[in-house]
Amino acid sequence: MQYIQSNYQALARKAAEQQWSHLDYLAQLVEREFTTREMRSIERRISCQCPAIRDRSRCRLHGGLSPGAPRGDQNGNYVDGHYTAEAVRERRWAKSLLDTFGKDKPHG
Ligand SMILES: [Zn+2]
Repeated sequence: MQYIQSNYQALARKAAEQQWSHLDYLAQLVEREFTTREMRSIERRISCQCPAIRDRSRCRLHGGLSPGAPRGDQNGNYVDGHYTAEAVRERRWAKSLLDTFGKDKPHG
């Protein structure tokens, strides 16, 4: 009721000047209240005044998911690349080939 609360007197003056009926006056009040609410809710959804994070378009609160830790030797836990996703995938692939085509199949 924010709009009505702060504008009903001004609108009443205008209503008196232009000789609106009570019903017209009430309808105007409600309609304007509704429109300002709509505007505010749109505004809330689209605008944030926080500064955007470096290299991103949104702020730290609205930027979405983290892009994750740095890959490869950019990561502080990187040692020699033995456990990078790529290396692990390659070993699994090699082992699957062995399991499928190798002579000594462990599972008969
Ligand atoms: Zn934001």
